[in-house]
This record gives sequence, structure tokens and C-alpha cells, in this order.
Amino acid sequence: MRPVYGLVDIPLLKVSPRAKRAAAPAFNPTKQYAFHYDAAEHRRQPHVVKFSGGRSSGMLLFTMLENGILQPERGDVVVFNNTSAEHPATYDFVRRCQRLTEQKYGVPFFWTEFQTYEDVIGGEWTRLPSYRLVLPSEYSENNPDGYHCRGEVFEELLSWQRFLPTQFQRICTVQMKITVTREFLSDWFAMKPKTRRLGHYYGRGMMDDDSVIRMHRKYRGGTPDEILLDKAAFVRGRPWFRPAQNFAEYSQAAHPFHNETLQGKSIGDRVPLSGDDCADYAAFVGFRADEQARVMRMKARNFDRGEYESAADPHTVLPEGEYVYAPLADIGVGKADVFAFWEKQKWDLRLPAQLNYSNCVFCFLKGAQTLAEITANREKAEEKLPKKLRAQPNTPADIHWWAGMESKYGRDLKREGRKILNAETAGKKPFIGFWGINGKMSYRRLAEAHTVAALAQIGAEDSALPCDCTD
Ligand code: SF4
Repeated sequence: MRPVYGLVDIPLLKVSPRAKRAAAPAFNPTKQYAFHYDAAEHRRQPHVVKFSGGRSSGMLLFTMLENGILQPERGDVVVFNNTSAEHPATYDFVRRCQRLTEQKYGVPFFWTEFQTYEDVIGGEWTRLPSYRLVLPSEYSENNPDGYHCRGEVFEELLSWQRFLPTQFQRICTVQMKITVTREFLSDWFAMKPKTRRLGHYYGRGMMDDDSVIRMHRKYRGGTPDEILLDKAAFVRGRPWFRPAQNFAEYSQAAHPFHNETLQGKSIGDRVPLSGDDCADYAAFVGFRADEQARVMRMKARNFDRGEYESAADPHTVLPEGEYVYAPLADIGVGKADVFAFWEKQKWDLRLPAQLNYSNCVFCFLKGAQTLAEITANREKAEEKLPKKLRAQPNTPADIHWWAGMESKYGRDLKREGRKILNAETAGKKPFIGFWGINGKMSYRRLAEAHTVAALAQIGAEDSALPCDCTD
């Protein structure tokens, strides 16, 4: 196998138009595999790698790069959606992957973040969702374009929506990942050097208390004013506009490209991703062969195209022009193969393989047992990391941050003055947290009873669900 710039034993994928996709065989790293496009036109469309920041996406990315499947001239691009709730070691890994992708292979790799901006809708000041490009260096007053890692992006979402995500309403995945990628691609596919500015020019936030309340009432919201304004305070303190951003300032590999399949698709300086004349593109995700549920959903989505509704939120119709590939699953790469791949490299994601730290560190969908394991083993795991990669207190790599968000943005139904009709709930202090109403699980409980045995004693349900953030 060819050694590459710090990476060895990259699986070989030969692009073959005639290869038949068989049921995933056991992966053999010494074998040459065939990769084929499901439709001939996919080869000409821009390729988008949805990079989650984990080892599987890393293996997928370098397998594609080393086998020449990504081409910058076609408009191919790698996108990482930062939620500001990842572990510092994840950010370090993403940075290394970006550097190698851009310097050795010349393929642009962007860090993106959810961001709102102020605008007038129906005569009322409000905030609308969008995204911004960020640099791969940490945000500070002196580095205002850097990425956030202290929960600011996540909290902006909660404060804007004024409620928490739950397994039934995964607003975090929908807004911070699916929608951000979609918005970014609408700009990128326009083949222009920069994004447009969003928001007004007044030089200060224009939303006042009355406009927050009026907008809430307009949409039949019944939250009392004081609670509503408390929850809206954080988002009102965030930037009220999104500047125009030059792609080349955020990726050293971003150069003008021309893809004929995108020609004439732009409306203004954006390309629609749904509708009759939307942009078509091939998306690549790091699903493995042991994640068949995700793979099956992906295939159903490819088949249904615009008809498919996201499992994350039934109201979100995913881009109609997107066709998703999962090459690792196709060649039978499982979890153990991914670890074996990274063990051979000179660098790796410096987080313990046995603990599920991936994506948002304390994601509520990881289940009680996994969260308890992370909490119980965190100190030891952190000690093994270099100081600059250790989790900081009061950031999302600390469970107390999540407990704080739950208490601030959860819903105390009695305080809201709601009628409690459910007899079981009536005598309690009804509260809707990340685990729904009156669940035995909460981040406060987890922080207090941070062993698996202690959690069993309080009867916390182990409701692990796939977070499926890149789906
Ligand atoms: S990892 Fe979990 S908390 Fe983070 S965006 Fe995904 S579903 Fe939400």
C-alpha cells in the first residue's frame, strides 16, 4: 500500500462504472475495492463530504482523497458543522484533517457554525437562522472569526428557539447541521468568491422586549413575558448581522471553480437545493457497515429524494438534489476496522476509543449508561491528554454546562401557568427537559449520580438512540 504524508494503509478504491454493489463483505485492508457511481451523472456533480469530526469520517475522507475521488476543480468540498459542544481533542483532530486535506490534496475544507441575524418579518424585528464560516482557531476578542467551543452556538440555538431539543424534536441536528450545510452549499454552488451580508446596518440590535413578546404572541405563544425574555436574552446579545465572507479567507484551498452541472442554476447569488431546477450533488458520509439502520435510511432517502422527511424532524424536507453515498459501509468497514486504521497512523483523535465522546460530548441521545460512563471516567481520560486538549469547566465538555442549559431553557409548566391535565403529572413539579416531561433522567441527576450503579438506583432509563447528526 502507498504510504501518504503521515497516513498509511489507505484502503484502495478503484472507481469503476461497471462494478456491482454487493452486500457488504468483511473488510480486508489489503484488497482493492471498487467504488461505483449509482448514476453516470453523479461523476460530474460536485462531491460534498459531510465531516462529523470522528474517526469514521476521517477514514472516509482520506480514503476518498488518496484514491482521487475528490477533485477541487469540480467544486468538491468538505464541510464540518461546529456545534461549539465538541471536545477540545475533536477540534484538534478536525484541524489536522483540514490542514492535510487542503495542503496535500488541495480540496477546500470549511468549518461552519449556526448563527442568527436580525431582520424584519411582517413589520416586526426578529431573528432568522443562517450560518457563518469560521477559522480553525479558537474564538477570542482578538480572533473574532475563530470557532466557538464554549457552547455559544448551541446556546444561541436554544435561546432563539426557547426550548430544548428532545428525541422527538431534534432541533439541534436540524438547525446546527442539516440546515447549516444546506445554507452553505447554496452559497458555495453559486461559484462566487464570497457569501452575501445578512442583516441590517443600524449598528446595534433592534429587537426590543416588546418586539420579542409581540412576535411570540403572533405565533400563538403563551409563555409569560418574564420567562420569555429571560430565555431570549442570550440570542439578543449575539451578533445581529452576518458579514459577507470570502471563501478564500476560510479555506486556503478555496479557489474559483467551474462545474457545468451548476451552470445557470443560480438565482441571485445562491443556488436552490430543492425545487425543479435545484443543484444536484453527491454527498459522502462516514456510515460504517455496522450502522445498517443509518445506511438503510440513507438509501430510502436516495430513492425517495424530495419525498423523504428527516427522522430528525418530520417538518424538514432534505435537499432534493442530494444523493448520498456511504463508501465505508459498502466495502464492509466496521468500527474495529476504523480503529485499526487509525492505530497505524502517526496521529489520531486523542480521545479514548472505549468512551463515546463523539459529536456533542454529553449529547442526550447517547443514553444514561454512556453518559454515566463518560462522567465517571472523564478525569482519568482527561489526565492522559496534553493540557491544551483537556476539557474546560463550564463548557459543553463538562456535564454541569448541560445541567445549566436544561434548567435555563427547559419548561417549568407550573411557572408558565399551564393547566396540568395529566393526573400523574398534576402533583409533581412538571418540567420538560432534554428527556421529555418528568423523565427520571436529567443532567442534574446525572451530574450528581455519576456512576452507572447510582443511575440504576434512581431508575434512569437507558434510552440510547443514534444521534445520526450527519444524516
Ligand atoms: S450530537 Fe446530540 S446534542 Fe449534538 S447536535 Fe447531535 S443530536 Fe444534538
